[in-house]
Amino acid sequence: MDGLPPVDFRAELNAEQYAAVTSPPGPALVLAGAGSGKTRTLTYRVAWLLHQGAKPWDILLLTFTNKSAKEMLERVEDLTGVPRGQFWGGTFHSIGQRILRRNALAAGRSPDFTILDQKESEQLFSEIVKAADGAFIKDKTNPKAAVILDAYSHARNTLRPVAEVISERLDWMKGGPEKLVGFCDAYEAAKKERNVCDFDDLLVLWLRVLENDPAALEHYRRRFQHLLVDEFQDTNRLQSRIIDLLASHHQIMAVGDDAQCIYTWRGADWENIVAFPSRHPGTLIHTIDTNYRSTPEILAFANEILSHRPRIEGFDRRLKAVRPGGQPPTVFTIGDTSQQAKLIGRKILQLHNEGHPLADIHVLYRAHYQSLELQMELNALGVPFVITSGHKFFDLIHVKDVLAHLRFIQNPQDQVALSRLLCLLPKVGPVAADKITRAAKDIEQAQGRGMVRALRDPAVLKKVPESAKDDFNDLTITLEDMLEGIEAARQKPAPTNPAADLFTAARDRSEEKVARTPAETTRVCIEGWYGSHLKTLFPDWKDREQDLTGLIGFAAKFEELGDLVAQVVLLNGESSDKKPEPDQDMLRLTTIHQSKGLEFPIVFLLGVADGLLPLTRAIEDGDVEEERRLFYVACTRAENMLYLFAPRFAVSGEGYRPLDPCRFLEEMSPDCYELADYAHRRL
Ligand code: ATP
Ligand code: MG
Repeated sequence: MDGLPPVDFRAELNAEQYAAVTSPPGPALVLAGAGSGKTRTLTYRVAWLLHQGAKPWDILLLTFTNKSAKEMLERVEDLTGVPRGQFWGGTFHSIGQRILRRNALAAGRSPDFTILDQKESEQLFSEIVKAADGAFIKDKTNPKAAVILDAYSHARNTLRPVAEVISERLDWMKGGPEKLVGFCDAYEAAKKERNVCDFDDLLVLWLRVLENDPAALEHYRRRFQHLLVDEFQDTNRLQSRIIDLLASHHQIMAVGDDAQCIYTWRGADWENIVAFPSRHPGTLIHTIDTNYRSTPEILAFANEILSHRPRIEGFDRRLKAVRPGGQPPTVFTIGDTSQQAKLIGRKILQLHNEGHPLADIHVLYRAHYQSLELQMELNALGVPFVITSGHKFFDLIHVKDVLAHLRFIQNPQDQVALSRLLCLLPKVGPVAADKITRAAKDIEQAQGRGMVRALRDPAVLKKVPESAKDDFNDLTITLEDMLEGIEAARQKPAPTNPAADLFTAARDRSEEKVARTPAETTRVCIEGWYGSHLKTLFPDWKDREQDLTGLIGFAAKFEELGDLVAQVVLLNGESSDKKPEPDQDMLRLTTIHQSKGLEFPIVFLLGVADGLLPLTRAIEDGDVEEERRLFYVACTRAENMLYLFAPRFAVSGEGYRPLDPCRFLEEMSPDCYELADYAHRRL
């Protein structure tokens, strides 16, 4: 292209980056380690292509987020003066949408199709199920639309048979997958009839156009003479099939880090990167291993993590440091997860007193619930923090739902809690909830049986909508069960408040009841109606179930249900009152997944133990390699200091649960970190 300002590629890139940027025509795979300048490389590649005579409209740039595409093209504009609007760049979905508009007919839509958001897709799917089989919706043991749709989406993104994925993902459901596959087919027909696309269609139909319309395929092959793909390790099968078709001319550069693929649960297939050279013969593999982010000590630790993963031919590499030496990563062994929270709190204050801004410190964890004790400790210490990966623990919907059970059992006059529970039932909104509550109050006053048992009265059941009756029955059985355990506990040693429970005290003389602690009561709740409700309602119910197990651990700290409930309210009040001010110095808490691609001066990684990282679920499924990659991603975020915390016990509902040492750490040479043994020290 004429008139471009000169760029000194050699001076602005290191030798590895320069080799990748100036790669000769043909397929190229850039395997770049964490923090080695992948964005920089792709950006300069665009500039290089322009300097070699390519036109902006010859280039298609595919990235993981629209933001990164925008940033990249802004950089190219700065470098070359070519307006960014002249390029095609964006996420797979946004590019798919643009291409579909132009080829809608080949995909069975007309060009003015509209796009359904997630909620609208679920609504449409519910309508389809209702129309096809009214009884299916009513049976509460069947999965809800969102859950079926999630499995269907997974099948489409991984190009696997729908029946197979449904059988695998919904293995708890009774009956075979055929009926659900039928719903999915009907959903497809409805979308076509209404001329709408869901999010996945932007890829699925894009692929269909390329596969079914040879003229369109030829057009786009010629149109995009150069394909550049960032974050290639996170592409799924569907995306890689699209790339393969478009790039059959093999003018493609894919950039990625196989060691950082952490989205396989969403369908990402890191094998795409491994198989790239065989799908694009003559691929030149460039490795960029010079890391500009971390100290040599942190990089040695990160390299050691990777050195123990199964070998992949041609994919071995180690990050090389350019920064001067710093301090080695420290592994703190500590008695239990409660002590871990105390130690982290103490270390953070220490660093802060030494002059490190809180904002420089990020605490990472594998799963939300693991941060619960730390959140409490930080509240107690008055350390301001923000959670950058979603809600605070006690603000999570499912945690709030379980807490509503506990609050209601603790105080049966708590109508807000009861109303929340009733509104979880199908077809019950605030108005119906109010009717049910008033009926129960009448019974309570007439019979003096207490609200929980009054809810079980047939007169109350009459007020419950027909389709909610089964759920209501199960819910109230759970509530009564929870209440009985607490009542028995209250009476056991010396009834602290005998007047409140005269009626049940009389009943208990004839019936043997099991006294339950607050933690056991929480477990009864989770194993009762709410547990099955969770499964049918949330596609990610396994993660949510894990959060709730964390809640049992939290409850284990309390002997009295009243204390537990009060503490939660206090904690929540404190944390939600504290609106972060834009320039307030605050600590950051985040999951490892959300930390991807970012860099922080100081990183604390908690829960480095088998069962926490890797998660028990991954160990049980026999697939811990993604967990190892998560461990690697977490550690490579750190610029200057890396602290790891390895608890030996988890505080759980049953008391202490021993944790095996983290298998990844066990494999590693102890030379790459310092060990600080706090397991035998009192904090
Ligand atoms: P991750 O794997 O975490 O996504 P990455 O490979 O995308 O990281 P970048 O974020 O692009 O790496 O770069 C990491 C840091 O290194 C950035 O701050 C970038 O400015 C810097 N950097 C990259 N290349 C060079 C270079 N040749 N000279 C100086 N600094 C560089
Ligand atoms: Mg990056």
